[in-house]
Amino acid sequence: MTTPARASRLDLLAIEGAFAVAAAACELDLAGREVIHLELGQPDFPSPSHATAAGIKALEADDARYTSPAGLPELRAAIVQYARGRGIPAELENVVVTSAAKPMLQYALLAAVNPGDEVLIPTPGFPIYPSAVRLAGGIEKPYPILFTDAGWRLDWDAIERQLSPRTRAIVLNSPHNPTGWTATREDLERVGRIATERNLWVISDEIYSGLAYDYADGSSPSAAAVPGLLDRTIIIDGFSKRWSMTGWRLGFGIVPKALFNDIVALIINNTSCAPPFIQRGGLAAISGPQDVVHALRKSLRERRDRFVAGLNSVPGMSCALPSGAFYAFTDVRALLKKSGLDTNTLQSRLLQEFGVAACPGTDFGPTGEGFVRFSFATAAPKLDRAIELLTAAAKKFGG
Ligand code: PMP
Repeated sequence: MTTPARASRLDLLAIEGAFAVAAAACELDLAGREVIHLELGQPDFPSPSHATAAGIKALEADDARYTSPAGLPELRAAIVQYARGRGIPAELENVVVTSAAKPMLQYALLAAVNPGDEVLIPTPGFPIYPSAVRLAGGIEKPYPILFTDAGWRLDWDAIERQLSPRTRAIVLNSPHNPTGWTATREDLERVGRIATERNLWVISDEIYSGLAYDYADGSSPSAAAVPGLLDRTIIIDGFSKRWSMTGWRLGFGIVPKALFNDIVALIINNTSCAPPFIQRGGLAAISGPQDVVHALRKSLRERRDRFVAGLNSVPGMSCALPSGAFYAFTDVRALLKKSGLDTNTLQSRLLQEFGVAACPGTDFGPTGEGFVRFSFATAAPKLDRAIELLTAAAKKFGG
């Protein structure tokens, strides 16, 4: 008996390799093995207690009905204040609340891209960008984030080369997953000039803003804060990272007013609205005391310094200090050369033989070959143990 064929569109989807590594690592956990989890991008801090209390209180009050598709007005107003604090001249009609940042990314591409349009995306980069571009019918045009002696930087020549009359949008991600590269204000102004000259959308994933270590308040510059860019910029943001609320699945978009109704229509077609009791938790997180965010950033910074120094002491590994987010995207090419392994085999053997769970750089595109991503959003003793295990692995593989 034949069954209906699956839709060919499914072939366009990428997944996040980190979830596959996490599943393999969990099997080892269950088998009683020691595993250091450095694969998923989630801080080990609890959600802010005032967010949890507000969420529970709302649920107990049965604040669990459909609500406004654009989000609770109080939360949208708090997001406006937050955005203004980052220099973004947002108003209520620029703000939508979504069920995490990921759907907002899909909405942005569905709203901005026609079939056949080209979209610049960073490589290495978050694997959901090419996936979302293709699902919207677009064609991804990768531009490299380059690894240099001075750290990671944009390659402007490559960006110019990838632009064409069919280019419709440029995806930015700052601070950047997986490299930690963080755009300067000048970088964003230059992107803004290109976007304005060529009439492009700027889709700016700022989920790691608030976790930029070179800025006193952790807040990296926003594309929508560049004068004139708010009307062509779609900001993707959310509560997962800086408020350590990954499982709440709460995000938001700061979108041009001209797209507001369209994005709301996409929300209505997908989730109707984000759950109101979840939004109450988000409201408490964004408008309440920010000491949890400051403590998280301080701790991540200390872990970064300690872990990156450790990585640089492992033979065959070298890592530039990431200026934002919480990933150490580590150059392992010297180790691969000595051992004859490829990136994926090295990653899998690090997990299976040494219990260090990390993502192969190839999860972030072909330019990730030769790199491994370690999340350092975990407790210092575990990071220290990971360095011990990696040193033993380097000895075994590198001779
Ligand atoms: N953008 C980037 C660059 C990310 O790394 C992630 C999470 N890994 C997301 C978006 C998704 O965030 P959320 O949990 O809010 O869906």
